[in-house]
Amino acid sequence: MEPEQNSTTATPKALTLHGAKLGTFLARHPWVLDRSLQIPTEPIEVGETVDLVSAGGRFVARGIYNPVSRIRVRLYSWNPEVALDDSFFATRLAAALDLRRQLDLLGQPSAARLVFSEGDYLSGLIVDKFGGHLVVQLTAKAMELRLPWILERLVQALAPQSISIRIDPKVAAAEGLTSTDQCVYGTPPSEPVVIEQHGVRFRIDFGGAQKTGYYLDQRDNRRIAAAWANGRDVLDVCCYTGGFALTLAALGQPTRVVGVDSSERAVVQARENAAENGLSAVEFEVADCFDYLERCCTTQRKFGMVVLDPPKFAGNRRALSSGMRAYHRLNRLAVECVEPGGILVTCSCSGLVSREDFRHILSGVSQKTGRGLQVLEQRGAAPDHPVSISCPETDYLKCFVCRVG
Ligand code: SAH
Repeated sequence: MEPEQNSTTATPKALTLHGAKLGTFLARHPWVLDRSLQIPTEPIEVGETVDLVSAGGRFVARGIYNPVSRIRVRLYSWNPEVALDDSFFATRLAAALDLRRQLDLLGQPSAARLVFSEGDYLSGLIVDKFGGHLVVQLTAKAMELRLPWILERLVQALAPQSISIRIDPKVAAAEGLTSTDQCVYGTPPSEPVVIEQHGVRFRIDFGGAQKTGYYLDQRDNRRIAAAWANGRDVLDVCCYTGGFALTLAALGQPTRVVGVDSSERAVVQARENAAENGLSAVEFEVADCFDYLERCCTTQRKFGMVVLDPPKFAGNRRALSSGMRAYHRLNRLAVECVEPGGILVTCSCSGLVSREDFRHILSGVSQKTGRGLQVLEQRGAAPDHPVSISCPETDYLKCFVCRVG
């Protein structure tokens, strides 16, 4: 971890853990849930720095309090000598930006995640860069309270053309956030911004009524998948604005690429992105992923390669078992449509489905279909989405490249 400043300020108020929970926080998990804490002995303000202490009174970690949230305290430091002040957060932000500089992701047409919340030890703050424009997502009150300061730092470090705020309404309710979606610095682009990923251009509209996002985490998985596309007939299922389909078409020499998504708007944008890159041998279709694959099975339509990048099927614990069944069903249908010796690129972005669970699902698919699956690559998100070893939730994206027997 980066060097941190010494503090001379008064010791923060203490919050005591229930005994059984100690191990989690000694292992540096940053989310302290309300049920892990004893009732505070004195009033604590929202945004106040607190010390997490063991039932025996020993210092464990320092964090920021939010009485509204189920995540009652977000932990930022395990060093009792360190104050959670501007210079502390400045050091963390600088370390995050330094990583992206090393990854060569700070250049103009590129797009990257500059700050990845817990992955960069800045729980509650996500900063994405699309060309010269920044998008800040807040997921914790602790970071919302520091927003003016964060904006100032981002302007100083990166001289962006604009900074916009994005707030998920569900997160806002859970954390008591009051910010709204708006441009808070500079002039937002009036036209879609064209970004470049591995030489492929994508139009991103994050200002207008038709605003869309872009999945930065799959950047390198698209390039890896492209290396397997040569001479194959490719189906990209849940293609969104064409991330995999267009990268494969541009870099991989497939014979043909078809992208399918249930969102008509995504398909329109995928077609615009194809035109932007002069790629004419890629087709996009609006369809439900299950219906489309079932039709392919019925008509015996086969592909040399299928990419599956579905939405989060297991968004919460209650949806876990139905989500697992959905992954099983989608992968089973896809395997049935892959020619023997073909490639399946299969992804899951559900944090609740572990790598082990996902392997288990694929093993079930292999058993049910009688088709062997050789795993060639087991990948995660691109390195601008670092996984904190202390916070398994940051390892949410699974991307397996398999040869189908
Ligand atoms: N592969 C994309 C990202 C996919 S995100 C990329 O590389 O950028 C998941 C996509 O699944 C979204 O575009 C969403 O519209 C689509 N989707 C959600 N439910 C679907 C369904 N039932 N059938 C087909 N597509 C679906």
